[in-house]
Amino acid sequence: MDLYEYQGKQLFARFGIPVSDGRLATSSEEARSAAEELGGAVVVKAQVLTGGRGKAGGIKLAASPEDAASEAEGILGMDIRGHRVRHVWIEKASDIAKEYYLSVTFDRGEKKPLFMLTTEGGVDIEEVAESNPEALARLHIDPLVGFQPFQARWLCFTAGVDDPDEQKQVIGIVGRLYEAFVGADAMLCEINPLIVTPAGEVKALDSKFTVDDNALYRHPDIAEMRDVEAGDPQERLAREKGVTYVKLDGEIGILGNGAGLVMSTLDVIAQVGGRPANFCDLGGGGDAEGVVDALEVITADPQVKGILFNIFGGITRGDEVARGILEALERMTIDLPIVVRLDGTNAEDGRAMLAEAAPSNLHVEETMLSAAERVVELAGSR
Ligand code: GDP
Ligand code: MN
Repeated sequence: MDLYEYQGKQLFARFGIPVSDGRLATSSEEARSAAEELGGAVVVKAQVLTGGRGKAGGIKLAASPEDAASEAEGILGMDIRGHRVRHVWIEKASDIAKEYYLSVTFDRGEKKPLFMLTTEGGVDIEEVAESNPEALARLHIDPLVGFQPFQARWLCFTAGVDDPDEQKQVIGIVGRLYEAFVGADAMLCEINPLIVTPAGEVKALDSKFTVDDNALYRHPDIAEMRDVEAGDPQERLAREKGVTYVKLDGEIGILGNGAGLVMSTLDVIAQVGGRPANFCDLGGGGDAEGVVDALEVITADPQVKGILFNIFGGITRGDEVARGILEALERMTIDLPIVVRLDGTNAEDGRAMLAEAAPSNLHVEETMLSAAERVVELAGSR
């Protein structure tokens, strides 16, 4: 789950990383009073779940509350790479002497958190990595040993942070960023820019914070930060219903039991020239309730032109799943062509039940490949 800048900064503050005081606003009037409360110059910042807001015109300095109101007016409603701006963050403006970059991210290849620090911040970090790789200090942390203070010193010296007073502050921030990363079960904590003010104060001017979805149950306060209006509507519905679903951009709706089976179903659909509309795992169960929920989520996607059930009966018997599918189709009306491939334990019974009782838009196939071909053909002919 990606957090907005202002939410990431709330977490930074909780872990003792210095940030500027600010307020959230959803109208130019709120922006005006936020700027009044903060006093002095402010910066008006579009809150969207994408980077490069500055370049897109979503970050503006404002000298007065009137300026803040009119800048907010311009930014609210703006479209930044497909993200509509519904909130602005009004923050006390900072004077900037230097812009650094600091992040810790989960490096899946190494199975370790990876720190990166460079004094060439403010710009795209990919650019620095490409054009000036020696300016980027990189260091993996052994998760079992944990973060050690000498590692922060190494990062500082390697990146060339040479002012002793700055070093002290950056070293402190590196340690606290690691605590935030581990404490919030994050996948990414990025500060770009990490600024040094003319007075020599180091602080986080921006935040990019991604929390592992699978750990959200341990952080109800962070889970609550999710902006339900910003996400994909199908995925939102799926989350509400507890269906394991990932939206894709094709036309064939897919349900299967077992994540591995569903993954290979996506491949087989692609192999026969179709495009999967989703990933959806029914899990071990095949009860009508679960099938109804999954079908509701899948058919809420207007792009879906056909549905493929790929069921391998193991612990869940084929006849049970067939009963679940039939019951589900009695409870809801689906006009789309449905193809069912049923194999494994009690598959013959299951197929016979479907052949006998199923509505005319349901077709039974014996193999995964023939089922994929059939559903792609039926979906295309509509
Ligand atoms: P991003 O473009 O989405 O990464 O948004 P940032 O929060 O990083 O802001 C982009 C740029 O705006 C920063 O790199 C700064 O140069 C500038 N900026 C943001 N806040 C302030 C501020 O308080 N004072 C000044 N002078 N510039 C700011
Ligand atoms: Mn930034």
